[in-house]
Amino acid sequence: MDISNPTHQTCRKCGTCCRKGGPALHREDRRLVMDGRIPAEALYTIRTGEPVQDNVAGQRAYAQGDIIKIKGNGDDWCCRFLEDETARCTIYDHRPVECRALQCWDTRAIEALYDRDRLTRQDLLGDVAGLWELIEDHDRRCAYATIRHQAEQLESDPSRQTEASNLITDMVKYDENLRKLLVENGHAPETMLDFLLGRPLTATLNGFHIKVERAGGQYRLVYSIFT
Ligand code: SF4
Ligand code: SF4
Repeated sequence: MDISNPTHQTCRKCGTCCRKGGPALHREDRRLVMDGRIPAEALYTIRTGEPVQDNVAGQRAYAQGDIIKIKGNGDDWCCRFLEDETARCTIYDHRPVECRALQCWDTRAIEALYDRDRLTRQDLLGDVAGLWELIEDHDRRCAYATIRHQAEQLESDPSRQTEASNLITDMVKYDENLRKLLVENGHAPETMLDFLLGRPLTATLNGFHIKVERAGGQYRLVYSIFT
């Protein structure tokens, strides 16, 4: 993990690590979410099979299960709990285990921990009847494994483009409609959707080199492998 090649041996509370992105949560952090110290609105989920940048291994990978992370500030990666002017963590006494383990001058502790015992949505919502089934159904119907399979098949057989586009477009529509319904029917605030359902497919498909364009209520998928 490359933070900045520090020469110091103590934390200077500079906030550089926090500006590179919020932490992923682990089972040890469950209580922080259940108690509302870290509200669900501050979280987003990287779902199984979603392309991720593995900063510790230094390579692109596909999520092996849920990775629940603290959101950034708008389009910025910076952890939303960092106070920009003072570089102070606003939840310092209740910060997640990754933040407690991170020492930029010695990354062994964070490397040993970062992919172990990750917190999942099931840990938090598995006993919420109705909602959990809906999340599982969404995971099935918008499975990244299916999208990846379609994208890989297309690379070797471009003639399958229409078939792949129809299948993926159906997923995009389902994903978008479900989000709308949950908000319109008052089942979830919009700010919680990225935690409950992961980020919208319209935002994540670029990880598979697919761009979703919209015109006149219609979707068009553009495959950058062909452009
Ligand atoms: S651990 Fe983070 S806040 Fe502390 S000195 Fe290193 S980069 Fe700065
Ligand atoms: S929770 Fe606090 S310590 Fe952890 S990344 Fe965010 S601002 Fe930094």
